[in-house]
Amino acid sequence: MNQFQYSRPAEIASAIKLLAKDSNGHFLAGGTNLVDLMKMGVVVTNKLVDINHLPLKQIQKTPTGITIGALATNSEVADSAIVKENFPLLSLAINAGASPQLRNMATTGGNLMQRTRCPYFFDITAPCNKRVPGSGCSALQGYNRMHAIFGANDQCIAVNPSDMNVALTALDATVHVSGVKGERKIKFADFHRLPGDHPELDNTLQKGELITAVDIPASPFNKNVYYLKIRDRTSYAFALVSAAAALHIENNTIKGVRLAMGGVAHKPWRLTAAETFLTGKPVNEDNFKQAAQIAMQGAKAYEYNKFKLKLAPNAVIQALKMASGIAS
Ligand code: SF4
Repeated sequence: MNQFQYSRPAEIASAIKLLAKDSNGHFLAGGTNLVDLMKMGVVVTNKLVDINHLPLKQIQKTPTGITIGALATNSEVADSAIVKENFPLLSLAINAGASPQLRNMATTGGNLMQRTRCPYFFDITAPCNKRVPGSGCSALQGYNRMHAIFGANDQCIAVNPSDMNVALTALDATVHVSGVKGERKIKFADFHRLPGDHPELDNTLQKGELITAVDIPASPFNKNVYYLKIRDRTSYAFALVSAAAALHIENNTIKGVRLAMGGVAHKPWRLTAAETFLTGKPVNEDNFKQAAQIAMQGAKAYEYNKFKLKLAPNAVIQALKMASGIAS
């Protein structure tokens, strides 16, 4: 491992200042992803700013919803009575991810920042535009079974690996960040990005900005929810495809719906057209099937992930059936 400077500030302003002029420094929270990447030589940093002593662990109700501090661990969020009562979809999604040991260490902010699990990104001998911009994408002609079916291009076909992010995009969360220029809010849907011409950038954070909190607005989606994760083994595996469904049902009519998929794009993939189709419709399997078809418009598979073109709509249908209670 290369040598780097380590510091552990106790104040947010000090942490931000420490990275303000440093183009190659990193904030360290739970370290469940960053430390692995450093050990493998994927991330080579000259400065680590350990933020674990910053006062960012709150999980609180607010007049408009809840706020979750960036350092609240995944376990603390998933087990929080406030979260379970108001946003059970988030608890389900978090508990579908990683292992209990990792969830005890991993933080909310870190989960937003975790990098793709594309094997070529981790292999420092392989061309990878995300790791070395301009070097090429090994996955395009390689083993692309885990890769994207939406929003990808020849620059990068990787997917965002987080389960938590799928629930947060469905729940219309907002990310609070702080930097040398002050504080700002980013809509969750705008936080992660598609590869475009800059696959090395996973999100819209400016250099040196620190995630301080994630807010989720109050909503009626606290009863009919389901997070379906389809993976190679039941525990500790990343999603081949996942589907988050939250329904507001009155008298068998869908008054509102939130849908998102994971494991299918460079960012958590919100299914707004399918949501629009379902709103006002009765709860039945036929409508769920039509919504899933709508959700798949624009999908494109590669050599080894063609199965996702069938798996993804089936996951959406099943998640909707489970959330609505017409399947158990
Ligand atoms: Fe790298 Fe993205 Fe291609 Fe994977 S898919 S090799 S992360 S550029």
